[in-house]
Amino acid sequence: MRCLNCLTVVADNDTTCPSCRAPISPAKSAQSAERPRPVFALIFMVMGSGIYNVYYPAASSAAKTGGGIDFQRCLYAGCVGAVCAVFGGLIDHFLNAGRK
Ligand SMILES: [Zn+2]
Repeated sequence: MRCLNCLTVVADNDTTCPSCRAPISPAKSAQSAERPRPVFALIFMVMGSGIYNVYYPAASSAAKTGGGIDFQRCLYAGCVGAVCAVFGGLIDHFLNAGRK
């Protein structure tokens, strides 16, 4: 990491810059290291779209549209994925809240 004042490279456990003596806040680097990632939101979004495809197979809509793209089906799959992503995001939120 670097000193924000003079951009000298400093050790992670330094509290002050060896060059300009400016205080280095370790809180900032710890925060970026533990930044929550929306893992469950992504997993749920993919699972939601996948489950939608299982319940409404592409074959059934392909017959309906003559082999073309069923945009309504794509929209529904996207909506199901989005709703699932919101649930996954809530799980992420509560997991990250409990970690603090
Ligand atoms: Zn410095």
